[in-house]
Amino acid sequence: MGAEGVTTETRSLTVVEHPLVQHKLGLLRDVSTDTQMFRQLIHELTLLLAYEATKDLATEEVAIETPLERTTAQRISGKKVAVCPILRAGVGMLDAVLSLIPGARVGFIGLYRNEETLEAVEYYVKLPGDIGDRGVIILDPMLATGNSTAAAIETVKRAGAESVRLIAVLAAPEGVAHIESEHPDVQVVVASVDRRLDERGYIVPGLGDAGDRLYGTK
Ligand code: URA
Repeated sequence: MGAEGVTTETRSLTVVEHPLVQHKLGLLRDVSTDTQMFRQLIHELTLLLAYEATKDLATEEVAIETPLERTTAQRISGKKVAVCPILRAGVGMLDAVLSLIPGARVGFIGLYRNEETLEAVEYYVKLPGDIGDRGVIILDPMLATGNSTAAAIETVKRAGAESVRLIAVLAAPEGVAHIESEHPDVQVVVASVDRRLDERGYIVPGLGDAGDRLYGTK
């Protein structure tokens, strides 16, 4: 068997080391993986990361009846979920979360990064009106500088969100530190924290431009 632990967890960071996650991540990184396979792998990885990111959702005991007898079962209770992909690469993760949480509302946050300053520029925001009553899951496959993620977190918090999680596939140490210092309350779930950012703000070894690889735009 492979690694014994399946997650490494600190107060606000969870790295999912499950063999299925790490196997799929290796395929995702590979430059020879084509667009269709890349999209499929992002979907599958998001399912597995979302499983981890939602493990502390509140449940309550309810009475049910099986074909054999009355018994009790657990049902998710408490806050409903709002899932917020950051455009555009986060959209590649959306269907996976909605397949697990079909009742979730969806908010979109459009950010692009100024390639010179690497600062996030917001160009579109559409959030559920009741986001303040919901647990928010932000989706972005790449936590690089953390500028876009921090901007998205600020946007949902300004709209009233109190409970925020982030699911990313890859992170750079710089991005993790950025979110930990500005938003220590946000739980970040990733498949890997890579070595570093390069001078263009790409995660190394990384997987390249997630949006381009998802949508075949390069
Ligand atoms: N965004 C990407 O798509 N890839 C990186 O490596 C960093 C940010």
